[in-house]
This record gives sequence, C-alpha cells and structure tokens, in this order.
Amino acid sequence: MLRVNLVDLDRSGTQEIKGEIPGDSEFWEELDLVLVEPLGIALVVTGIPGGQVLARGEMTAVVAKECRRCLEPLEVGVKESLDLVWLDPDEFGDAEDGEFRLVEATATELDLAPALREEFLLSVPRFVLCKEDCKGLCPRCGVNWNIETCDCTLEEPDPRWEALRTMKNE
Ligand SMILES: [Zn+2]
Ligand SMILES: [Zn+2]
Repeated sequence: MLRVNLVDLDRSGTQEIKGEIPGDSEFWEELDLVLVEPLGIALVVTGIPGGQVLARGEMTAVVAKECRRCLEPLEVGVKESLDLVWLDPDEFGDAEDGEFRLVEATATELDLAPALREEFLLSVPRFVLCKEDCKGLCPRCGVNWNIETCDCTLEEPDPRWEALRTMKNE
C-alpha cells in the first residue's frame, strides 16, 4: 500500500492512498510503540515533471502510553497533517535536511513507509499526563495520590516537601 509505482504515477499524475496499517504490521517492527487503533493514512501523491514527488494528507492513530507522573495507562489520539516532498538528488543533492527527502529521477518505485514512520514518531507526544493536575505517586510508598493519601511525609518530614506544602497552603 505504501509503495508508489512511479512509472504509473508518471511523475505528473496523482494517486490516492487510503488505508490502515495494523499494530502488528512490519511497519512498526523497530518502533517501541503500542497501537490501540490501527494507523489510518489518507494521502494524495503527486508527481511533478522534473522528478519531484509530493505527498499530502494526514495520518491518525491511537497509541497506548502511560501517565508520566502516576503511570496510569492512557490512550493518546494522534492526528498529523502530512506535507512531504521528495526531490531528485542530482538537482538537490544537499537538500536532505529533514524537510525534503530524496528520490532518484530514474527510480521506478517510492516507498513511503520510512517517511511516514519518521513523521509519526515525531507526532507522538513523548510525555503525557492523565490530567493537568495529576498528583503522581508517592516517592516513598508508591501509592497513587490521585486515589489515596498516605502518611509518609507526616511520619518522616522531609524539609523539601515541608517547604512545598507551606507554599501550597499559603
Ligand atoms: Zn497521572
Ligand atoms: Zn507514601
């Protein structure tokens, strides 16, 4: 699905790519990600005379993550617009700087997968919170402060926590 036949595209036509990539596809092999819903891809690939290829559209997915503070499992929706450009290295040899990618003017096929993987990874937030004011876990006994309280800080006051608490109570 992600291999575009450039001969068919004739470098001046367009081709629509629409489909889903399930979480167990080889697409994800080297990525440390768990998908809750398959990656949805909707792209229009355009060939431009002279060897450039454009791909515009978007991808959506739901990824399993955990709250950075309390480690609760979360489902995070990802939606990313795509605007990808491939240039002929003979003309734009030094252009591969992240914004552009390269494809030989004589190539007969273009595999979109590496570019889509890159874009997807960039669009997944590295850290998420279950809620803005998540209280996190007690660093001493590990209880989830969103659900219960503990006496750790009372039994063994830590001056840093004391200072924080005083600030909060002011
Ligand atoms: Zn949390
Ligand atoms: Zn505790």
